[in-house]
Amino acid sequence: MLRLYNTLGRRKEVFKPIKDRRVGLYTCGPTVYWFAHIGNLRTYIFEDTLKRVLQYNGYSVKHVMNITDVGHLTSDADTGEDKLEKGAKREKKSVWEIAKFYLWHFKKDIKDLNIIKPDIWIRATKTIREQINLIKILEKKGYTYIIKDGVYFDTSKLGDYGRLWPKKMKIKGGARVEMVKGKKQPTDFALWKFSPPGAKRQMEWDSPWSPPGSHHKVKGFPGWHTECVVMSIKELGIPFDIHCGGIDHILIHHTNEIAQAEAAYGKLMANYWLHGEFLTVNGGKMAKSKRNIYILEDISKRGFHPLAYRYLCLGARYRSKLNFSWKSLKASQMSLENLYQKVMEIREVPQRKNLQRSDLCKTGLCEDYREKFLKFINDDLNTPRALALMWDLIGDKNISKKEKFGLLLDFDRVFGFGLDKIRKPRVPKKIREMLELREAYRKKGGFKEADRVRKMIREAGYQVEDTSKGPRVKPLN
Ligand code: AMP
Ligand code: ZN
Repeated sequence: MLRLYNTLGRRKEVFKPIKDRRVGLYTCGPTVYWFAHIGNLRTYIFEDTLKRVLQYNGYSVKHVMNITDVGHLTSDADTGEDKLEKGAKREKKSVWEIAKFYLWHFKKDIKDLNIIKPDIWIRATKTIREQINLIKILEKKGYTYIIKDGVYFDTSKLGDYGRLWPKKMKIKGGARVEMVKGKKQPTDFALWKFSPPGAKRQMEWDSPWSPPGSHHKVKGFPGWHTECVVMSIKELGIPFDIHCGGIDHILIHHTNEIAQAEAAYGKLMANYWLHGEFLTVNGGKMAKSKRNIYILEDISKRGFHPLAYRYLCLGARYRSKLNFSWKSLKASQMSLENLYQKVMEIREVPQRKNLQRSDLCKTGLCEDYREKFLKFINDDLNTPRALALMWDLIGDKNISKKEKFGLLLDFDRVFGFGLDKIRKPRVPKKIREMLELREAYRKKGGFKEADRVRKMIREAGYQVEDTSKGPRVKPLN
């Protein structure tokens, strides 16, 4: 039984999909105006873990991720510049070039982190017509009003606005930082923004709307929240199963997605809403605006494996804050290297590819491990406990190597450390030649010399082992 914390009900709930064994999953994707920082990537690692846990439970998952390449303003209060246009100015490139480069980079990051690709990627700029159509439906149903700045959603018209909010929360007029002139309620949000007069945007489109009193057509662009409603429902229908994002999306972005979907279609958009907590630095949120960020390349440049960062993230619960430090990353890297070393030792037994679950365990002890693992991951993705269990298993002398290795590969379907792909590090040529020299001495009866070479090999960090198949070297532990 898989239990997930649903922000909507503010409690852990048993997961029940709409269709029997198929799950529709929508995760808010990147705004491609700069590199994703490792805080953003924490959220994608959490979502990947969720997807893997669903698959581990036997569900087939249809995963949709959007790419925000227009409409995300620098402020959540519908003011400020469009992040993409701002990025283009900064780098003196076209908006399209900016989006292309950072999308490419994002895809590289998620590959390096062994995050499974979504089944469907959609770009906001490819669904402008559908977004306009959604706004037309909202207009017809009386949920919109037009001011100089754009077309706005009137939140007072929806009885249940703020479904994801904590119970006590109320937003009073003026409580938000900036408020666009003419907005009726502080919670109202832009569905369509008119291009500012005199400023030519690189991305702008015709629409049925113009500012009040305007005698000519004014181009514009969609508000950020609308794209996710259109893209998720287009691919997954309404309602769909799970919608995810970072915790900062609860109060505004996801709240405004729910409001639009409910107003347009009279239905709750998705049944489960899951949110990942922040990565922090010195206790504060990691954010581009705070200049306290690292990107994945910063990690690699310092000699860390991207998967060491994945390990670090899985060591904390996704609903807890995780404070980043180089020290903790180093500890994760050591654990990961230790894990790889242990797996290589255990792997001595030849393995069949695609081990079937049914022939994974032959003993009750092995079954116990699987049961516990399932219990932990199904308890709202308790990866820290699942990791601890993995180390218990590695140290357990009562279970055969074959079962141990099978279980490790099985657990790795959720962890994603790439245990099925690790290769023994190649022994350097110099060491191999020394080993041959030692053999030559031995064959001639020169045992003293052979021993001397053995010592030299040891000093270089390798250990000679004489096996029934002849001598071989392995790195010193
Ligand atoms: P953005 O590209 O800004 O839309 O952010 C991408 C994802 O990263 C969103 O789901 C955000 O909620 C999430 N996010 C932003 N900052 C952090 C952080 N410091 N820690 C974890 N997730 C974050
Ligand atoms: Zn979204």
